[in-house]
Amino acid sequence: MKTMLITGGSRGIGAATALLAAKEGYAVIVNYYRNKNAADAIVSQIKNERGTAVAIQADIAKEQDVARLFNESKCVFGNLNVLVNNAGILEPQMKFESMSMDRIINIFTTNVFAQFLCTQEAIKQMALSKGGNGGAIVNISSLAAQSGAPGEYIDYASSKGAIDTFTIGLSKEVANEGIRVNAVRPAFIYTDIHANGGEPGRVDRIKNTIPLKRGGQAKEVAEAILWLASEKSSYCTGTFIDVSGGK
Ligand code: NAP
Repeated sequence: MKTMLITGGSRGIGAATALLAAKEGYAVIVNYYRNKNAADAIVSQIKNERGTAVAIQADIAKEQDVARLFNESKCVFGNLNVLVNNAGILEPQMKFESMSMDRIINIFTTNVFAQFLCTQEAIKQMALSKGGNGGAIVNISSLAAQSGAPGEYIDYASSKGAIDTFTIGLSKEVANEGIRVNAVRPAFIYTDIHANGGEPGRVDRIKNTIPLKRGGQAKEVAEAILWLASEKSSYCTGTFIDVSGGK
């Protein structure tokens, strides 16, 4: 059975990915930070549908937590086949000139440095030269990496730009280790993240400017993630799928 670890698998896009991955036969590690109830609910739903999953708490911004997360995952299910670097945060909308350095550091710590830490641990389990079987890493970027999110959250958009560059560089570096690295760039998906940005109704405000004239569902992003994780995308590495309604 192939194993998939999803950071931030308790809610939103991560939770939809966990449910779809279990349906497709993966043993799923649902990482969460604070919301144990939400993570347990996803694991229960998977088990009720005869799938295999476990919830593991870890703040992926902390090096020790990340080491424990990957060790526990390995003890339960063995070496990883897929890592989905999904967990991400947003701070309230404001102009760049008003952003405190604490806020910017917090955004980069969770959205970039934490992904670096998780990826280093995943490579240890996947790399052919380390006795692994290869694997796939799917990074969750954002269309904001290209729009820059002016007037809202340039810090967040810049962190996703870093993830795009990371995806390109790492895909070339680890190709000969049997590891493919790709990214999905969602936008305007109905999840809790917009409330964290201070505007719970953001998707509905913007939807008429989206070519497809609607917001997206987390499951529609999960479908792209699962494709990039699977052998169906075996000749893709360093590539991006925009799941953004054509915007
Ligand atoms: P969400 O609904 O707010 O869920 C965030 C998830 O990340 C939760 O499971 C949360 O865990 C987890 N998390 C946050 N900080 C963490 C930490 N330090 N350690 C471990 N887990 C942590 O977000 P979402 O909208 O699904 O977003 C998922 C990804 O898609 C993010 O990278 C986001 O930037 C990206 N994205 C989303 C959209 C969109 O429109 N929704 C658009 C573009 C990109 P708890 O449940 O424990 O809090």
